[in-house]
Amino acid sequence: MTLRRGFKAEAEREAARVRRELGLAPHDRLDPRELARHLGLAIVDAADLVTMSELEELERLQSFSFSAATFEIQNRKIIVVSPLRSVGRQNSDLAHELSHVMLKHDLSEIKELDGMPFRTCRPDEEEEATAFGGTLLLPRPLLLSAARRRASVEQIANDYDVTVEMARFRYSTTGVAKQALNHS
Ligand SMILES: [Zn+2]
Repeated sequence: MTLRRGFKAEAEREAARVRRELGLAPHDRLDPRELARHLGLAIVDAADLVTMSELEELERLQSFSFSAATFEIQNRKIIVVSPLRSVGRQNSDLAHELSHVMLKHDLSEIKELDGMPFRTCRPDEEEEATAFGGTLLLPRPLLLSAARRRASVEQIANDYDVTVEMARFRYSTTGVAKQALNHS
């Protein structure tokens, strides 16, 4: 599946806009928990809803079956996040969930997790949320400044609290390495 034409550029513009709202510079680290507060969304640790041993049992039965999900309870959106993930992974999961909300995706499909219903989106919306989530955490100007100071993918992941996979993906698909070379 491919993103619709113009989506990536829109995502960069929207990421820049929300950073201005948060008072962040284009190259600053964005904390998705702060963005959630700004948007009026609550983030709940899954361990506050079920026991840690239940979460571990679910993980044992099916690895990575649950990382984060968005619920709507009495018109209030709540993101539940698994404490079993690394900080970087939690940040990308939270950015993904916030993206669904910001892109006004219809949380249509209902799935169940340990008897608890939660909603997932259509495959094209999943792809949009992942792409926008990555753009929120690592927008192009941030990557460009990192490329100019010759930061490695691992350093970017470490500096901005994201996974190495996300840093590598954004670094390679935005073409910033090439652009930084051309201008140095
Ligand atoms: Zn999703």
